Amino acid sequence: MQPFSIVIHGGAGTILKTDMTPELEKAYILALEDALNAGYAVLEQDGTSVNAVKAAIVVLEDNLLFNAGRGSVFTKKGVQEMDAAIMDGQTLEAGAVAAIRNVRNPIELAAEVMNNSNHVFLSGKGANDFAIKQGIKLEPDEYFFSQFRYDQWKEMRDSDNYSLDHTHQGLEELMKDKKFGTVGATACDAFGNIAAATSTGGMTNKKYGRIGDSPIIGAGTYANNETCAISCTGHGEPFIRAVAAHSVSCLMEYKGLTLLEAMNEVVHNKLIKMDGEGGMIGVDAAGNTAMVFNSAGMYRAMRNSAGEKLIGIYKE
Ligand code: ASP
Repeated sequence: MQPFSIVIHGGAGTILKTDMTPELEKAYILALEDALNAGYAVLEQDGTSVNAVKAAIVVLEDNLLFNAGRGSVFTKKGVQEMDAAIMDGQTLEAGAVAAIRNVRNPIELAAEVMNNSNHVFLSGKGANDFAIKQGIKLEPDEYFFSQFRYDQWKEMRDSDNYSLDHTHQGLEELMKDKKFGTVGATACDAFGNIAAATSTGGMTNKKYGRIGDSPIIGAGTYANNETCAISCTGHGEPFIRAVAAHSVSCLMEYKGLTLLEAMNEVVHNKLIKMDGEGGMIGVDAAGNTAMVFNSAGMYRAMRNSAGEKLIGIYKE
């Protein structure tokens, strides 16, 4: 048995204390704590890191506050299309889904792809057909609806803009209610195995079947027992071009950097040069954790078997 730990995020972007009400801040902290505890409980009972990240993500997907599962943002066409990925650092197996609709917990479907298909990445209608075949829980459109996300989309639908749901891009209204959040989790279990998972509705007003970094293995999500497990959040396009999550792993594997050094290099150097606003969370197989971002804030939380626990929103 060795030290175990879990880290989660609920999205990064222009998250400022001055824009937050005490009630909303409290709601976010409670939501992060719920998810953290759900994942930690799995680790405490000698569960696997894969099950721990899944348990944490399900709690966040079920919460309307976050842009994942229930409460996902709207596309240009006014529907909700979701992306998710999960990776097991012990086996290097991975599962991902993109542009899926009506799946209650997209992370469950990603895990189903990993565990019970011969594939890694399924998209659109095919992924939905697979969900039905595997008996994954579906919900009607109304289940995913949130008035805030709808109003946010209405402000943008007649333009060609698309936006990170947590970044103010000149539209005052977008910030009215401060509901942010792609979600992610990384964990190291008591057996020294690590895993990463990410789930998102993507970006508001996205079109042409746009897919971000979250479900792309190596870009938004990556896990390898030899190095790290990483889940990213931010403007997906630069994260894809930077192969952000896998870059952290490469810096550790080939240059001998620590988890924190490697994450700092990618977030504060590589991504900055590419205008890549956002952040990432990570663990290594010794149970070390890190949460790094170059945006104004990132909803984040960590807990480990040494008794450390931290929940944060803004820059320190
Ligand atoms: N990275 C996600 C995407 O581009 C968005 C986010 O992290 O909020 O789809």
